[in-house]
Amino acid sequence: MRKQIAAANWKMHLTVGQADELLKRLLSVEWTPGAHQEVVFAAPAPYLHLAMVRVAESGRQGFSVFAQNCYSESSGAYTGETSALMLESMGVSGVILGHSERREYFNETDEVLAKKVDMALHYRLTPLFCCGEPLSVREAGTQNAFVARQIERSLFHLDAALMSRIVIAYEPIWAIGTGKTATSLQAQEMHAFIRSLLDARYGSSVSGHLSILYGGSVKAGNASEIFSRPDVDGGLVGGASLQAGEFEVIMRALK
Ligand code: PEP
Repeated sequence: MRKQIAAANWKMHLTVGQADELLKRLLSVEWTPGAHQEVVFAAPAPYLHLAMVRVAESGRQGFSVFAQNCYSESSGAYTGETSALMLESMGVSGVILGHSERREYFNETDEVLAKKVDMALHYRLTPLFCCGEPLSVREAGTQNAFVARQIERSLFHLDAALMSRIVIAYEPIWAIGTGKTATSLQAQEMHAFIRSLLDARYGSSVSGHLSILYGGSVKAGNASEIFSRPDVDGGLVGGASLQAGEFEVIMRALK
C-alpha cells in the first residue's frame, strides 16, 4: 500500500509554548501510525529543533518533522534563509515546497521550485511538493492543464529514482483556508489525473507508489470521506492542524 500521510502545516502560527503543548498532546494520543502511515509536523523554522526533540523523546514511530521551505543554495551569504543542508544536518525528514502562499507572496516560480526540489533531494530530504489551481482556472475548466504545467516544470527533469522520493500535495487554492473544501470527487479526479501524468512519464512503478495528498480545508468532519478515495493518500492540513483534537481525528482517518 502507498504511504498514507497526515501532514500538519502550522504555517506562521503558534508561540513556542503553544507549539510544545500541541506536540505533547499529539504525541501522547492512544493511536499509533501503522507501517504504511506517517504523521508529519511541518513546523516553523525556529521550532524545528523542539519538534525533533519531542518526537525523539516520545519514542514513537511514524511521526516525523518537516520544514516549510528551504533555499535553493546549500550555504552562503543569504541572510534569513534556511538551507536543505542545515535541515539535513539536524535530522529533519523533509520540506514543503511550492506551497501556494510561497508562490504568491514570495514569487516562487516553477523554475525556482525545480532548483529547491533538487537541493532537497540532494540532501536526502523528502520534498512535499504542492500544486493546485486558483479559482479562475477552476471556473474556466482548465485545472488539469494548469496543474500538469506546474508538475512538468518543477519535477519532470527528475529521473525515476529521484521522482519516486517525491510526495505531491494537490491543493486547490480556492479551498485553502477558505472553509470551502473540494468535494472528494473533485479531489479524486485531480489525483487520478496527476497519477496518469506520472504514469505516462515514469511508468507504473513510480506512479503507483507515489503518495498524493489533498490539501484545502481538511478538518475532522470531512477527512475520512476525502481520504477514502482511492487516489487520495492523506492530507496536508493547515488550520485544523493547530487544534490537537481536530488533528487527532484527521490522523486516525488515514487509510
Ligand atoms: C495548507 O496550508 O496547506 C492548507 C491546506 O490550509 P487549510 O487546511 O487551512 O486550508
